[in-house]
Amino acid sequence: MNQAENAFLEAESRRAEAVAQTLLLVALVVGITVALSLIMGRAGERIATQLCISIAAIVSLAVFSGNSGIVSFGHAAFMGLGAYLSGILTMPAAIQGSALPNLPAFLADYELGLFASLAVVALFGAAVALLIGLPIARLNGASATIATLGILIIVHSVLVGTRDITRGSQTFFGVPRVTTLEVALGAAIVFICLARLYRESRYGLMLRAVRDNEPAAVAMGIEPRRARLIAWVASGALATVAGALYGHMLGAFSPRDFYFALTFSMVAMLVVGGMLTVSGAVVGVIVVTLLQDSVRQIEGGFALGPIEVPQIFGLTTATLGIVILLVIWLRPRGLLGYREASLPFLERLAAQAMSRLGSLVPLGRGRASVETDADLDHSRDGVSIKGLTKHFKGLTAVDEASFSVPAGKVTGLIGPNGAGKSTIVNLMTGQLPASAGAVRLGSVDLLDLPAYRIAHLGVARTFQNNRLFEDLTVYENVLVPALAIGASRQEAAQLVAHELNALDLLDVAHDRAGSLPYGARKRLEIARCLALRPILLVLDEPAAGMNPEETADLAERLARLGHEHGYATLLIDHDLGFVNRLSSSIVVVNRGRVIAIGTPEQIQTNPDVIEAYIGTGRARSEEPEPVPLSPSITLTAKGETP
Ligand code: ADP
Ligand code: MG
Repeated sequence: MNQAENAFLEAESRRAEAVAQTLLLVALVVGITVALSLIMGRAGERIATQLCISIAAIVSLAVFSGNSGIVSFGHAAFMGLGAYLSGILTMPAAIQGSALPNLPAFLADYELGLFASLAVVALFGAAVALLIGLPIARLNGASATIATLGILIIVHSVLVGTRDITRGSQTFFGVPRVTTLEVALGAAIVFICLARLYRESRYGLMLRAVRDNEPAAVAMGIEPRRARLIAWVASGALATVAGALYGHMLGAFSPRDFYFALTFSMVAMLVVGGMLTVSGAVVGVIVVTLLQDSVRQIEGGFALGPIEVPQIFGLTTATLGIVILLVIWLRPRGLLGYREASLPFLERLAAQAMSRLGSLVPLGRGRASVETDADLDHSRDGVSIKGLTKHFKGLTAVDEASFSVPAGKVTGLIGPNGAGKSTIVNLMTGQLPASAGAVRLGSVDLLDLPAYRIAHLGVARTFQNNRLFEDLTVYENVLVPALAIGASRQEAAQLVAHELNALDLLDVAHDRAGSLPYGARKRLEIARCLALRPILLVLDEPAAGMNPEETADLAERLARLGHEHGYATLLIDHDLGFVNRLSSSIVVVNRGRVIAIGTPEQIQTNPDVIEAYIGTGRARSEEPEPVPLSPSITLTAKGETP
């Protein structure tokens, strides 16, 4: 821990910031609720109740969709299940007897209070979500969205089909109308807080990393399926409760109320406000609800002085459609974008309050020294690769490659473009399945393990074409792997400060990764690897695209870090000066085969190596003589994209 890192950790008021942002949202919701009730009386209270329930519903949806980036069409189904179940559990026995004469005995005559019923509903929602989620969590992107659409349709059919329980497509009535404005407002506030807690939790962060870049998240030790499943279950349970509250507001409803129209307006609210944040979900609900309510007044026809404007059917839906299109066009990330709504003075207040609270109760932002990588045991033998082979269709990209990467040293891996270097990395780190061979780390064969487990063992890699978690901050990018391997929050914060400092990124720690200039992006990928506490660090063209000063600076940092941490490094780069300077031994591949292994000096004078590089160029440029590779030669593309 040096001074810069300590100063960073002291000023690291992220927690206060999150508290202030949550307070701001709560204040906004309370403010609008009070204003509506004061200005519009009864009608205002009704709108406010509806608004608060919608906030609870959309925030539930955002727990999954916002953090996973997968739009769900299935949440209206959860709401329907909640509304019907809570309706049955709370219905007075007398009404139940006449409304649902054939209700199965195990569901009849509970007459639960609202909160008891909500507890049962939450458990039921979680159980259903778990059952559905096991297959769905395997999917991502559009295929996951389509699967959620399937859920919506299936649940709708079930609600229509189970007549004895739901009265089928007839109106289901007799549900106690116990969702008062106070209950709805309380629910909105609780849901906002829960959603924020989840978003900032290690599971929320890990899922957002998966959302931004799944292969990179896996390489940083995250299992995407598990991360998605946790969010899906939490989100499903919350949506079921929101649906129950909605049912207790309506008093009577039918399966149609939980079908496409509801789904459409939920997704609209999420998209308009912005999926990436809880603030976006809340603001989306407020904007869309107020818009809908005002347009609905116009839709029914009105008088403008002497002019009578007639009823305009479909105006509300059409307006909503146009607003969505406009937002998607002008602000693809929604009104709020990727940052939570925030007020600086509120953040300062929260920080002060929390530090005062912290001096009364130690809140765990101490500076107890944490073991650094240097204290860990890295006395392994490094990694050895035997007979590694990969066939693509009709192409052997890696052909029985064997070499070793000893601990505490840098091993260079060079070869012309398309030689198979990146494929070797993808095989070693589990990104691609190998056709044959073994990659041994101690007694483990890495080829037997899934990629995220390989990361947990301490094999960290960068990607040739830079894969960052673009919408997370620089700090969060490095925090994610530290949390993924199980560090405590405090441990992780210290580790991250240390690695950010080592790669000169402390100053931009709270910037969005997507906003970084090129060189810093490259360094951030390395910092992220270091947070895995690597035993083996694999760098795929870390200096590509850097200018000579940046390359020299990177070489110096890598040498220092390697010395400090003692890990084995496998270094791929086209800049031979850079590779020669750092490597104690160099492996040369060509057309998937290892053609030479030796010290930098031996490699530069090896005739096979010269033939592999210059020989291919000779046909084009009529090179008169094979010349020895000088350290300044940069091997360039031969019809291959980087
Ligand atoms: P290098 O990193 O040395 O430039 P690569 O490992 O990226 O080379 O590629 C080696 C060969 O394998 C190239 O011919 C490339 O086109 C091919 N290749 C790489 N990945 C795939 C893939 N996923 N499917 C098919 N062919 C691939
Ligand atoms: Mg490559």
